[in-house]
Amino acid sequence: MAEAKLHRLPTSVAPARYAIRLTPDLKTWTFAGEESVTIQIHRPVREIVLNAAELEIQSACLKDAHGKAQNCRVILDGDNEQARFSFPSELPPGPAELNVKFTGILNDKLHGFYRSTYKGADGQDKPLASTQFESTDARRAFPCWDEPALKAVYQVTLVVDEKLTALSNAGVVRETVVPGTDKKEVVFADTMKMSTYLVAFIVGEFEATEAVMVGKAPLRVWAVPGKKRLANFAVDIGKASLEHFSAYYDIAYPGDKLDLIAIPDFASGAMENLGAITFRETALLVDGETATRAELERVADVVAHENAHMWFGDLVTMRWWNGLWLNEAFATFMEMLAVDAWKPAWRRWDSFTVSRAAAMQVDGLKSTRPIEFPVEKPEEAAGMFDVLTYEKGASVLRMLEQYLGAEAFRDGIRLYLKRHEYGNAETTDLWDALEDSTKQPVRALMDTWIFQPGYPLIGVAKAGKTLRLSQQIFRYIQDATDGARKWHVPIFLRVGTKSGVTNQTLLLTDQEQRMEFTDDIDWAVVNAGGHGFYRVRYSADLAASLQVGRQKTLSAVERFSLLNDLWATTLAGLTSLSDYLGAIELMRDENDVNVWTTVIGSCHQLGRILNDGQCAGLETRLRALFSPAVERLGWTVQSGESELQSQLRGDLIGALGTVANDPATQERARESFAAYRNNPDSVDRNLIPALVSIVAHTGGAADYEKFVGQFKHAQTPQEETRYLFALASFRDPQLIERTLALTINGEVRTQNSPYLMRAMFLNRQARARAWSFMKSNWQDMLRQYPDNAIPRMCEGIVGLVSAEFEADVSQFFGDHPVKQGSKQMAQHLERLRIAVACQQRWESFS
Ligand SMILES: [Zn+2]
Repeated sequence: MAEAKLHRLPTSVAPARYAIRLTPDLKTWTFAGEESVTIQIHRPVREIVLNAAELEIQSACLKDAHGKAQNCRVILDGDNEQARFSFPSELPPGPAELNVKFTGILNDKLHGFYRSTYKGADGQDKPLASTQFESTDARRAFPCWDEPALKAVYQVTLVVDEKLTALSNAGVVRETVVPGTDKKEVVFADTMKMSTYLVAFIVGEFEATEAVMVGKAPLRVWAVPGKKRLANFAVDIGKASLEHFSAYYDIAYPGDKLDLIAIPDFASGAMENLGAITFRETALLVDGETATRAELERVADVVAHENAHMWFGDLVTMRWWNGLWLNEAFATFMEMLAVDAWKPAWRRWDSFTVSRAAAMQVDGLKSTRPIEFPVEKPEEAAGMFDVLTYEKGASVLRMLEQYLGAEAFRDGIRLYLKRHEYGNAETTDLWDALEDSTKQPVRALMDTWIFQPGYPLIGVAKAGKTLRLSQQIFRYIQDATDGARKWHVPIFLRVGTKSGVTNQTLLLTDQEQRMEFTDDIDWAVVNAGGHGFYRVRYSADLAASLQVGRQKTLSAVERFSLLNDLWATTLAGLTSLSDYLGAIELMRDENDVNVWTTVIGSCHQLGRILNDGQCAGLETRLRALFSPAVERLGWTVQSGESELQSQLRGDLIGALGTVANDPATQERARESFAAYRNNPDSVDRNLIPALVSIVAHTGGAADYEKFVGQFKHAQTPQEETRYLFALASFRDPQLIERTLALTINGEVRTQNSPYLMRAMFLNRQARARAWSFMKSNWQDMLRQYPDNAIPRMCEGIVGLVSAEFEADVSQFFGDHPVKQGSKQMAQHLERLRIAVACQQRWESFS
């Protein structure tokens, strides 16, 4: 399309090395810059086109290989975020040097080169400047060829106040005072060849941990003054995961140093800038002694994920944004491998089933998309950062790894990285490497998962010695236009007959396949180990045989899949609600935290769908379901119990006190919370989130006041977000108003406000008010919040379950399209459609 192509740069000129010098002013929130770019002119041109946005260009000139200078005319094209340098005469092919002087702003939208402020230990507001360039915002900091395939070397110089710290991708070569000023010039070494979106500059007051060496590279964690005490956990996982990856990839860490930097205002979780990874504080800084297991796991996950990117993403990069999954799915997959190796007791691959289920929820929609998807405009690239790229991508890689074998898979990955290091790659290059290494038909298998949206529902039935497998697309809303879609499905089969148990892996490529066994089949597990990205629907007799001996026959992950698939077919209208509730009532003996997570999640969802009278009935059922499990676990840590058991106790008590509304639990939780406030050591840390959520669920103005105080004066980032997001669970109308006001009055960071707003939609008592509040403050929110947060905030609309809400929501977003998340918005609306359809279908359920 001609219009779309305008966003891409011509291929006539390419950069080789940028020398960039920037002088940020943290008082006026502006910066001055100059750059000298060594370029290669491939074809004779009169014009050089590159990217620039929100920059002013003071001068530009080109020096050819003989040192002859040519001035040019500069035209800024704001719509396409480009600068065109046009020359009086044709430039011949060959090397040249482009010199540009420019100025820009340190914006407050958490992208490009942006500003952040925080309260210092002395109570004063402190300024800080940081960057966030992915996907297309390097162009807001310096004119550049802002496409991932145009890799170059970067040499950065920052001129900053003498008392501040300046960080960038590479190590410091020298730091010198600028004579006659209170400024210093910090000169950084050349980086390796890499993409623009990985360049970073950070300026502010910072403290670092002592360097620990990983191979030849020193690793440090940086935080604003006063928070270094929360950095040790990140140092440990940082070192462990970097070492894990060097060994797994069989390639040394490609940078000269690694800084992990906590930034007080940050739009996403973290960003994999080579050698200078930036994080939001909750994703890096944590108190290893007081944080819950889940909070520690989150820090371990994010640090490992970003470290994995130093190879997958930074060393080898997708050619264009349609291939984003090559970066993100791999980093997510590798994060699991590394954390699992570091803390086996956390059983990280088991809890990954929860993420896989989240991806399957979106991928069961008609409005889903294939993992790899065409991208042209910047907002389309921004729309790719979703559960399909990350979690579905990682899930299908895990399925492939299990099918090929872990070592064979790893060898293919090593070959791929070696072949494309310092360069770019496409999906097809990965299949080439895996096929060369394993001699298996990887491409045919994986193309069905990467280029085709959705996933199959595997039907299973038995007749005597015969097992019949079939596949059809799974949809929450049946769609007659789907036709007969097929995947190459790795089936991990376990079958019980009177002569024993058979394990077998096979590839289902046809619509239907039959298998013969030597004896009559008693039972069969079709997604053994739970690695497959598909759902299973057993015939009634097979389902019954699994339900009966579930605890003995099935692993925790398999029990998870069984119940999660059943819930999905319930939402799809293939299973009745009473059958689903009957199945979960059989699980009173269940002791696995992830199995309970899926069940508790479905109960919260039911609590948003059912009417008030039905909810009262649901609460009674849920008290009967949760209470025996809570009695078994008790309220205090039992000697020798695992951290996962402690977490399960918290999850179950939290559910009993909120979605099951159990008065006795609520009273006891309030007592325990008071005891905790007096003496923090008196309560197990994994129980605290449950106590906080129950106190909020049942709380009044006095509790609210305390929570606001806890949020504002928290000792750790985890405590800060715990009390902040708990404000969304209060049910009193006046307190609901206060929380809504917080989302736009500047008291909550814009990195958090959109998510506070999302949580308000999921509170049954607050949702109607939240919806009208968002409608009236929509423009304000668009202006204040980071762009990437808008579609994520809007996910909350799935809580607005009624036909009236649905009509109004559709109308509103018809009039106010969210351009950076049109796919995600369609998905939220379809999820709402499914919930409303269930509400209507279950109208007479009691
Ligand atoms: Zn990532």
